[in-house]
Amino acid sequence: MSKKVSILLIYTGGTIGMVKDYPSGTLRAFDFNKLVSNIPELSQLECKIESISFKKPLDSSNMNPSHWVSIATIIEKHYDRYDGFVVLQGSDTMSYSSSALSYMLENLSKPVIFTGSQLPIGDLRTDAKENLITSIQIAALQENNQAVIQEVCLYFEYKLYRANRTTKINAEHFEAFTSLNFPALAESGVHLKINQNYLLKNQKNKKFRVHKIMDSNVAIFKLFPGFSRELLQGILNIPNLKGLVFETYGAGNAPTDDWLLSDLKGAINNGLHIVNVTQCSGGSVIMGRYSTSEELKKLQLIDGGDITTESAITKLMYLLGSGVSHKSFRTIFETSLRGELT
Ligand code: ASP
Repeated sequence: MSKKVSILLIYTGGTIGMVKDYPSGTLRAFDFNKLVSNIPELSQLECKIESISFKKPLDSSNMNPSHWVSIATIIEKHYDRYDGFVVLQGSDTMSYSSSALSYMLENLSKPVIFTGSQLPIGDLRTDAKENLITSIQIAALQENNQAVIQEVCLYFEYKLYRANRTTKINAEHFEAFTSLNFPALAESGVHLKINQNYLLKNQKNKKFRVHKIMDSNVAIFKLFPGFSRELLQGILNIPNLKGLVFETYGAGNAPTDDWLLSDLKGAINNGLHIVNVTQCSGGSVIMGRYSTSEELKKLQLIDGGDITTESAITKLMYLLGSGVSHKSFRTIFETSLRGELT
């Protein structure tokens, strides 16, 4: 008889496991054991499910890189014992956490699926059950004794996405995430349809590695018409700043004022890594397409291509934490490491 597939649920917090305080109506995290008892359907799944919870479950707005390291450490510690991992967390920063984990976990050959919900598990109209149950089913999929999914994903409202391609786009709808630059890896309807052609596959014999140093000396500067030199300089002059996501318009365009170009040039000469990432949720930076990006190209800003902001900021943290040399930083950033770039 073949061995039952085993899945580890890692509960970090979020609406999925929250209860309402009365009479205020405020949502707060509760004990994870109660979450499992709220879903008797879990016992019908044909896999063995075990769970582990953060001691203090959090609203994901309170999460930072130290919590990503905790998730990575749990997965590292249990990697050999389980066939797949489902991480439950709040949706607010889920695209950041799951993008970060995609970099921190190198050469994955097992699924790591992030999910959560917009309504608490105990709510009559909750989206939590479907999200959780399907995430577990997807994490448990095997073919020829190998996991079908071998990367970090995000599952929400009938769609499985590559995590580092996602963005939260809605605070109200059950369909809270999108991945405009890469197709869904799987869709759940009457049948579970896996888009095999889009899946990442771990090359055999490559050893699983966990990277736990994320350097937070990074920032995001989002352009808006009328931003001042003082504002930009305030950011560029942050002590010890090492990486900046420069969120530009459209296909990577920015104003052409001399002061802007000279401030950027000065910062780059001082060793700052500046990545050109578009503010649009879909499409790509194409430096040189318009005259408003030609100078940025000449300044050798790092080309963010079609990377999301969430993926870019966490990739900066990861590469800075990995001690990549200054010389090769740009080339490595512009290389797709975990399928985050087209
Ligand atoms: N504020 C919550 C969180 O991110 C929202 C959610 O669970 O989706 O933790």
